[in-house]
Amino acid sequence: MKIIRYSDSSGQIHHAAQQADGSALVIEGCIFGSPKVTDRKADVAKLLAPVDPRAILCIGLNYKFHAEESGMAIPQHPVLFMKSPGAVQNPGDPVLLPSVLKSDSVDYECELAVVIGKAARNVKKADALDYVLGYTCANDVSARDWQKNGGGGQWCRGKTFDTFCPLGPVLVTRDEIPNPNALGIRTILNGVAVQDWNTNDMIFDVPTLIEFLSADTTLLPGTVIITGTPQGVGMARKPPLWMKAGDTVTVEIDGIGSLTNPVQDAA
Ligand code: MG
Repeated sequence: MKIIRYSDSSGQIHHAAQQADGSALVIEGCIFGSPKVTDRKADVAKLLAPVDPRAILCIGLNYKFHAEESGMAIPQHPVLFMKSPGAVQNPGDPVLLPSVLKSDSVDYECELAVVIGKAARNVKKADALDYVLGYTCANDVSARDWQKNGGGGQWCRGKTFDTFCPLGPVLVTRDEIPNPNALGIRTILNGVAVQDWNTNDMIFDVPTLIEFLSADTTLLPGTVIITGTPQGVGMARKPPLWMKAGDTVTVEIDGIGSLTNPVQDAA
C-alpha cells in the first residue's frame, strides 16, 4: 500500500491509500495500529509529508564512495546524528535557505527513509524488518559550513534548520519492498542527475541499522531513520555545487516515488 498524509479542505489531517489512478481512499484508524482502508475518496487539499516523526535518526557516511569523497574513514559503527521533527518539509513545499545563520553551502543528500511501525528494542537483525511500517524518500539537506565549522564537531546545527528534512511523497508499506537494500536512488537538481546509485551499496544495511539503533534504546512507532547518502554530493564536487534560490531538487527512489522541492531564500 502507498500511504499519503494530507489536509482536507476543512484543514483536517488524514491518511489515505493512494490508488493506481492517482486518487486516494481514506484510511481510518492509526497507521501504526490497525488502519482500515475505507471506500471513501480522500478530499486532498494539500499533500503533507507522509509521517509526522517522533524522532529522526540519521546515519552519516553509510555509502562507501561517499565516505571516500568526504575524506572520511569507513566507520566501525553506524555514525548517528539527529534532526528535529520540526525540520520536516512536505513534498512540493520549499527548502528554505537560512537567513539568520546564513549559509553559502547548502547541499542535497538523497536518502532512503525507514519508518518504524511498532516499538523496537534490542531487535535482532533477522527480525528487524518486522518492525518497519514502510519506506519513503528523504532529502538530508545540509548547510556544510554550519555542519563542519559551526557546531563544535557535531553535525546537527547544519542539518536541522526548518525545512531541511523533506519527506515523501508516499509511505510504501514494507510488503511492497521486500529488500530495501536493492533500490535505485538518485538526486536530480534542475533536471540533472547529480547522485545516481543503489541502496545495495550501504555499509550498514537496513536490518543492521535497526539492530544497532534499537540496542538498549526504544525506537518508538513513527521514528524515521534516514540511512545515508551515496556519492555525488555538492560538497565533493570540483568546484562545489550548492543549492540556490530558484533551484528545484528531486529525490527519487525506485518503487517509492519522486520527492520534489523548490529552493527559496527564507527571508
Ligand atoms: Mg545524510
